[in-house]
Amino acid sequence: MPTRDVLGARLAFLLDWLYPPRCRHCRERIAQDESYFCHLCLQQIRLVSHPLCTTCGRPFLGTSGADHLCGACLGRAPRFHQARAWACYPSEEGEGQPLREVVQRFKYGRKISLGKPLGRLMARGCEEFLSAHPADMVIPVPLHPKRLRWRGFNQAVILGREVGRSWKVPMDPLILLRSRETPPQTQLAEEERRMNMRGAFSVNPAKSVAGKTVWLVDDVYTSGATVNECSRALLKAGAKEVYVLTLARAV
Ligand SMILES: [Zn+2]
Ligand SMILES: [Zn+2]
Repeated sequence: MPTRDVLGARLAFLLDWLYPPRCRHCRERIAQDESYFCHLCLQQIRLVSHPLCTTCGRPFLGTSGADHLCGACLGRAPRFHQARAWACYPSEEGEGQPLREVVQRFKYGRKISLGKPLGRLMARGCEEFLSAHPADMVIPVPLHPKRLRWRGFNQAVILGREVGRSWKVPMDPLILLRSRETPPQTQLAEEERRMNMRGAFSVNPAKSVAGKTVWLVDDVYTSGATVNECSRALLKAGAKEVYVLTLARAV
């Protein structure tokens, strides 16, 4: 009688045959599902690599030199301890930007099934950073209830859940609350973004983060204003350290 492993392998083979793994962007067939993108699409995704800002994780141009603080972090130190992202997020729409297109499909096209591969890519791709800063809990950046109702899901929760599963760290989406609705940030300058976000988050009084090290998860790091305000609330409630993890980082 075949063992469970053999049955599992046969089932995987059958599923592969019925639903061959495909690139999440161009739908090209791929050999291994765990890569999620084909070679061509993957080549077009610029991963975050050293040298980068030791605090906010912004990658510097060029591939040589040591990590150091960027001008923005030197001028005003963020509230969180450090931030890292898996890949760079191009600021403009355009051809050949697989990650941007896939993230847009995930968020605005409500293609929730993309959350799992994207969450795993960030959990795996930021291994160096995450293993250096073990955490007690994963906390996703919350959406305002009104936007949550409109979108139907919070992308940060889905990504955070995968990160938590991959690293066996519990995720709690009910700790951080969005206490105030904020207008969309896209048209705002950096200083305006900061003001826009002030006091937008609080910690659920029924929960405790005292003494905890937190991985704060979001999809895209743009100016850092959102994760900065979340960090302020978490640290004010007694969190020990906040490390920010995002799938992508605007460059
Ligand atoms: Zn592809
Ligand atoms: Zn920086």
